[in-house]
Amino acid sequence: MDVEKLRLAVYAGFTETGRAPAVPDLSDRLNAGEADVLSGLRALHRGRHLVLNVTGTRVLIAHPFSDVPLGFSAMGRDTLWWGGCAWDAFALPHLLPGEPEVLVATRCPGCGAALAWNVGTDAPPEGGHVAHFLVPVPRMWDDVMRTCGNQRLYCGERCVTDWLERRGETPGYTMDLGTLWRLAAHWYEGRLEAGYRRREPAEAAAYFTQVGLTGPFWGLED
Ligand SMILES: [Zn+2]
Ligand SMILES: [Zn+2]
Repeated sequence: MDVEKLRLAVYAGFTETGRAPAVPDLSDRLNAGEADVLSGLRALHRGRHLVLNVTGTRVLIAHPFSDVPLGFSAMGRDTLWWGGCAWDAFALPHLLPGEPEVLVATRCPGCGAALAWNVGTDAPPEGGHVAHFLVPVPRMWDDVMRTCGNQRLYCGERCVTDWLERRGETPGYTMDLGTLWRLAAHWYEGRLEAGYRRREPAEAAAYFTQVGLTGPFWGLED
């Protein structure tokens, strides 16, 4: 099994349908046995190219795509995606061919208000909303579902504080919509194409700095 071909087939399935392709679909698409597909998927999971369920039989996430709800929907012209987290949802228009603007919707975790933005590729959406990420970048992969599930958008700082107090959680990192949009714009660049390489930690640090993020939360020096 050529795992790079398998990776691309997972992304093609997500791009075209909004959902993760199941093992039999991948097997058909690649003309390969299901056992080979499964072992390829597990190799991609170990390489953090995607996230499988606990039994290793189903794709849950191939960033920025998700097959499970994490608080966001993202509506294109003909396709509806789970938006993954705030970072992932804002990345979709930058990555999807023929989708220059995607309607991203969520509920504020603080107060339950319905929030929605047309997210495009030219400029960040307007608004005084904020994104709050709970889990620091150096620990992001300890429990990726908890990490992604807690990268959310709020009405404002007050709703972040309310949510943190209610949950008894330690504050993470709060940023405005413009910073979130810049973070999302190029982070996943190249992921739908062959030969994609994940960023080394030093490259990630340079990217975070360039979009205006600071501090140990992002694995950066103070
Ligand atoms: Zn709110
Ligand atoms: Zn995410």
